[in-house]
Amino acid sequence: MVDIAIIGGGASGLIAALTAGGAGRSVCIVEKEERCGRKLLATGNGRCNLANRDFSLDHFHGSVLSKAETVFETMTPERLEEFWRQLGIDFVEGDRGKLYPRSLQASSVLNVLRRENERLGVRVMTGTEVTQVKPVKDGFLLSVTERSEKEKTLSQSKLKARKVLLCAGGKASPAFGAAGEGAKLASALGIRIAPLSPAICRLRADSPYLKRLMGSKTEGPAVLRVDGKPVMEAEGEILFTEEGLSGPPILDLSRAAGEALKESRFVEVALDLAPDYPEGRLFAYLMERASRLAMASAEEMLEGWLRKQLILPVLAEAKIDKNTPAGELDKKQLSRLQSTLKAFTFPIKSLDGFKDAQVTVGGIKGNEVTEKLELVKVPGLYACGEVLDLDGDCGGYNLTWAFASAVTASMAACEAIAREEDK
Ligand SMILES: Cc1cc2nc3c(=O)[nH]c(=O)nc-3n(C[C@H](O)[C@H](O)[C@H](O)COP(=O)(O)OP(=O)(O)OC[C@H]3O[C@@H](n4cnc5c(N)ncnc54)[C@H](O)[C@@H]3O)c2cc1C
Repeated sequence: MVDIAIIGGGASGLIAALTAGGAGRSVCIVEKEERCGRKLLATGNGRCNLANRDFSLDHFHGSVLSKAETVFETMTPERLEEFWRQLGIDFVEGDRGKLYPRSLQASSVLNVLRRENERLGVRVMTGTEVTQVKPVKDGFLLSVTERSEKEKTLSQSKLKARKVLLCAGGKASPAFGAAGEGAKLASALGIRIAPLSPAICRLRADSPYLKRLMGSKTEGPAVLRVDGKPVMEAEGEILFTEEGLSGPPILDLSRAAGEALKESRFVEVALDLAPDYPEGRLFAYLMERASRLAMASAEEMLEGWLRKQLILPVLAEAKIDKNTPAGELDKKQLSRLQSTLKAFTFPIKSLDGFKDAQVTVGGIKGNEVTEKLELVKVPGLYACGEVLDLDGDCGGYNLTWAFASAVTASMAACEAIAREEDK
């Protein structure tokens, strides 16, 4: 029997293990993939955006928020930063307060965690999936299925533990491991789960222009409109894909877009293609440009000022024939051109699926866990990370949550064992 069994060797599982190992407990991580921390390696485009200078609870969403508030009162961002420093990870700041390891390599974060777990004697079972968690008299019995890639066989066994930490993640980007198994294990124990949906993902748009725009980029603000009203704005590089929009600002808007779509509301994203020109000045500039290039066609007039792939879609949206001589464009047409350039609008039909999403909305509901993240209905079982109904904005908030919740739950499990031993 081990003191603590950890289901999932991802971001939260690895930190939970070294916390419990550091407290002198015997620990076993059970990870269904061949290696621990596969998703961690993919974070921040391989650079691992660990945290953010701009920390506030406003960046987190979901029914576990009130419990998260308590978690972060103890596991403050400063304490987390010190925790990383002690492991040898110093931070460097990127855009919008994003904090990365100074090496800018997610692999260094994973190596440090693996090494520390090894030093502490944490046992790691990879290629092994937990299929059932059963509370028994003095702890838990886990049913595990071990996969042997070499012999192409599956073998079943049981693992006994005094306490269990469910660190099995959500359902986003299942190619890296977690595919919703955590919610299923919890649900089998009668735990209520808020419906799972993807977030921090691309948006699928309903637009005739995507074929032409696919692969091109623009830089500027993107405004999310719900039922015609602007609700959120994000800025940066926006990419046009075959099916819609991508890029950091789009990922930022995706959660709010998803929530509005769930309520069957009309969702659009408006792109400002001329952020360096305020509205009135843009009109004056277009008038001047049209007269300067009077002999050119409307299409030619925009070349050299607007990205080539955008010109025809913008003219079509502004209902201007591309062959109209620039000198013949009237004020109404130029005004429509200005409006289109300031708000080139894409109706959004859906979010990209879980396949390419970075985080899961939903999970174990807030009133199913205590402030120490122990499951109310199953004492001795703790949950942390993305398996809980809490998701953070893009920018390091999800890993912050995975780490802070893991330390909290793991320390609580160790303290509970110590209390039992003192009796
Ligand atoms: C491409 C990408 C980039 C990202 N970039 C960032 C970023 O830069 N900053 C940021 O803050 N967040 C980022 N995220 C989000 C962040 O990685 C996750 O929120 C975080 O990893 C969640 O940690 P976790 O431990 O809860 O789950 P995971 O890290 O997903 O770990 C769960 C583990 O449990 C294992 N598992 C599941 N079920 C079982 C089972 N039954 N038995 C055994 N093992 C099981 C899985 O294989 C997996 O290894 C990114 C996500 C993706 C997909």
